[in-house]
Amino acid sequence: MTTAKEPTFRESVDLMFNRAVSLMDLPPGLEEKIRVCNATYTVRFGVRLRGQIHTFTGYRSVHSEHMEPVKGGIRYAMGVNQDEVEALAALMTYKCALVEAPFGGSKGGLRIDPREWDEHELERITRRFTHELVKRDLIHPSQNVPAPDMGTGEREMAWIADQYKRMHTTDINARACVTGKPINAGGIQGRTEATGRGVQYALQEFFRHPEDVKAARLDGKLDGKRVIVQGLGNVGYHAAKFLSEEDGCKIIAVIERDGALIDENGFDIEALRNWISKHGGVDGYPRGKYVRDGAKVLEHDCDILIPAALEGVINLSNAARIKAPLVIEAANGPVTAGADEILREKGCVIIPDMYANAGGVTVSYFEWVKNLSHIRFGRMGRRQEESRHQLIVDELERLSADQNLGWTLTPGFKQQYLKGAGELELVRSGLDDTMRAAYQSMREVWHAREDVTDLRTAAYLVSIDKVAASYRAAGL
Ligand code: GLU
Repeated sequence: MTTAKEPTFRESVDLMFNRAVSLMDLPPGLEEKIRVCNATYTVRFGVRLRGQIHTFTGYRSVHSEHMEPVKGGIRYAMGVNQDEVEALAALMTYKCALVEAPFGGSKGGLRIDPREWDEHELERITRRFTHELVKRDLIHPSQNVPAPDMGTGEREMAWIADQYKRMHTTDINARACVTGKPINAGGIQGRTEATGRGVQYALQEFFRHPEDVKAARLDGKLDGKRVIVQGLGNVGYHAAKFLSEEDGCKIIAVIERDGALIDENGFDIEALRNWISKHGGVDGYPRGKYVRDGAKVLEHDCDILIPAALEGVINLSNAARIKAPLVIEAANGPVTAGADEILREKGCVIIPDMYANAGGVTVSYFEWVKNLSHIRFGRMGRRQEESRHQLIVDELERLSADQNLGWTLTPGFKQQYLKGAGELELVRSGLDDTMRAAYQSMREVWHAREDVTDLRTAAYLVSIDKVAASYRAAGL
């Protein structure tokens, strides 16, 4: 029986950070400057609802302003507290640096159970919280740009954008004050799926490197891999959907709030998600075996484990029993520092959160750029690209006819080749490129340095190096 104490989430992030900086040669004092959270604002505000005043507590934490604006989501959950938003803000700093999104790190949260309030009430609460943050420039296109996180989505972002606009009626860039908005309120195609899509691209890139696959005691391709997903929220749902529908993975277990389902044949994620939204949980689903103690299923045999829900779910109490040889952290901080050590000792490869779930902020970056440039991606070039492709196709067909070569282009090829890239294709291409480049920067460090034995430490080294370089450039 272990008596070791689990650190808090923020302490856990700091422990991982310290482990990495002990391998670096930073100027004295810079290490602490980077590690600490610059400021955390706490606000308590009242909203009159259901005949009485309800007081809510919210936070916006700014971890590092080495680049501005600072970026990071706003979470609605009962577990929100200062320690958590500070840990999440720190992860945002490292995440943005790693994927080269030009932002500092921030995070916000409101202590609320969104399921307890109806839409109209949530709108009033969100607008009031926004008002408090905008007043202090904690929401601002050039200083602090929130986004969705657990418990929030497009709808909340649209309210935030509108509230900001009401308070800054002449700001032409007002829409860039928040990302993750619906398309008709200045959003971008592909933002909702982005974090899950990023998890898919991360795994595709991992499996392009047989050496890395071998390090995880796996072989072959993604096709046919047995996957367990914890949490079928926005991130877990999209990751599971794309991996099963496009890469041939089998989702053999899904863990949700009310328990887990196991089926070695793999689940149809779309059907399961529909069931969950209708019935509020997985219990009663006509396929698979239902297990009430969902957390136990994290310990089930599989090839890839995707924790896509809360922080700290793999901890000192269960790490030793985790069988997955490859864990990809779709959630922020799902593995505690102590569990990380246990898993590493067991030879488990962990694709760390700051990389694995960076797809969200990457596409947020594209949305922010779109808002500032006031034009949708692809609008200028799409038809030009199509007409150039048409030229080639016409020329090939002419050559074939003139020379009697008898070539015919397959209709599928022609259709695909002639279609110019629209916003969604460009967003996916930019995201894929980002995920590949960031993975390669991590794996280079992982393989080149003997003192770096895991991807998380490699990720920290790459990102801290970039943050340190910005501080140096600013003369600090
Ligand atoms: N909340 C997401 C995250 O943790 C997205 C942040 C953003 O897009 O700014 O990365």
